[in-house]
Amino acid sequence: MNEVCFKNLNEKEPWSLATYEANGGYSVWKRVIKGEFTPEEIIDELKVSGLRGRGGAGFPTGLKWSFMPRNDDGQKYVVCNSDEGEPGTCKDRDILRFNPHSVIEGMAIGGYVMNASVGYNYIRGEFMEPFYRFEGALKEAYKAGLLGENIFDSAVSFDLHTHLGAGAYICGEETALIESIEGKKGQPRFKPPFPANVGLFGKPTTVNNTESFASVPEILSKGGKWFADLGVENSGGCKLFSVSGHVNNPSNFEVPMGTPFKDLLKMAGGIRKGKKLKAVIPGGSSTPVLTAEEAMSMNMDYDSIEKAGSMLGAGSVIIMDDSTCMVEALTRLAHFYYDESCGQCTPCREGTGWLYRVLKRILDGNGKIDDLDLLQQVGSNIMGNTICALGDAAAMPVESFLRNFYSEFEYYIKNGKSMVKDNV
Ligand code: SF4
Repeated sequence: MNEVCFKNLNEKEPWSLATYEANGGYSVWKRVIKGEFTPEEIIDELKVSGLRGRGGAGFPTGLKWSFMPRNDDGQKYVVCNSDEGEPGTCKDRDILRFNPHSVIEGMAIGGYVMNASVGYNYIRGEFMEPFYRFEGALKEAYKAGLLGENIFDSAVSFDLHTHLGAGAYICGEETALIESIEGKKGQPRFKPPFPANVGLFGKPTTVNNTESFASVPEILSKGGKWFADLGVENSGGCKLFSVSGHVNNPSNFEVPMGTPFKDLLKMAGGIRKGKKLKAVIPGGSSTPVLTAEEAMSMNMDYDSIEKAGSMLGAGSVIIMDDSTCMVEALTRLAHFYYDESCGQCTPCREGTGWLYRVLKRILDGNGKIDDLDLLQQVGSNIMGNTICALGDAAAMPVESFLRNFYSEFEYYIKNGKSMVKDNV
């Protein structure tokens, strides 16, 4: 696999070190090594940029980096979360495939800022091509002397390792990911303590998403204000949106934050086969579903999507046209969370199973009208009562599907078949 990926490596290939350097890559890292930036200056610049975690939580990156006790004695770690597994997300794999050096440079800078001399990039188990591409880039960076001990005879050292997961969605949760790197079963930890104090191997650790790390070199090269001005208030910069579903051209699109949804839809080629837009999940399967009307009036930034009733999440936009049966769609999502629950806490372990089984009963034509109340009740018993966010992620779609498409569920129960298929 490695040979297949790299046999034609040359400067024309976007993922090569030569291409990256020809485009200004590693210039910030070299300036950092020369001592041109203090860690505090980098943190301040990131705060000005308005960069927020691109993995879904949207926590300000500069602030997160400032939480690390950088002056404490002992080992510290930076970890990149490339375990992209949320249905609808497909951006981080493309960053690893086509721009892996930006992740390496961003992580090295993060290591310098947080006084962490070791980093890990945790890559989802199924991502073989991105894994080998990243490994190849790492090899190039070591060979060029950009990583390792006393880089370019400075006092700066940074070693970076790749860790391949095994395809469990829950390992995208940062403490489960840490457990997995430690060689344990990937299950979320109770918090506090937070990873910034007790993280990997019990040491202070900061975990950031692939796209977040990849954004850092460009922000420091052009300035935090330049990045912030690309976007809108409270949502600095540009962002990768993965548009999938019933569009003519499903793909990743990097656009400024605040881009109108309808423009993004146009970039994705519009709705396929001349059909009509019915619903949009704007941030990955765990974020609430919106109606076409709600989506068409929103912009792609944190505040606007929240105002419309959902969340930006990881920017994974799932488009559904008017041939979609919402009962079927929700059942598919519910099965995913049921399957991926790590089983540690009762509301999630039992609740996700209940949600799936009740929905399946409706889908099989055996539903009762009381099932709709039952679904809402089970969902609200899960929300906020679990160790990690997977419980909420399972409950949120149920609440929003029922809120926005209640009549479809009702019709299915009364008639034992889909309203959509009946109307086709
Ligand atoms: Fe595991 Fe679900 Fe509890 Fe998260 S919420 S720790 S996935 S059982």
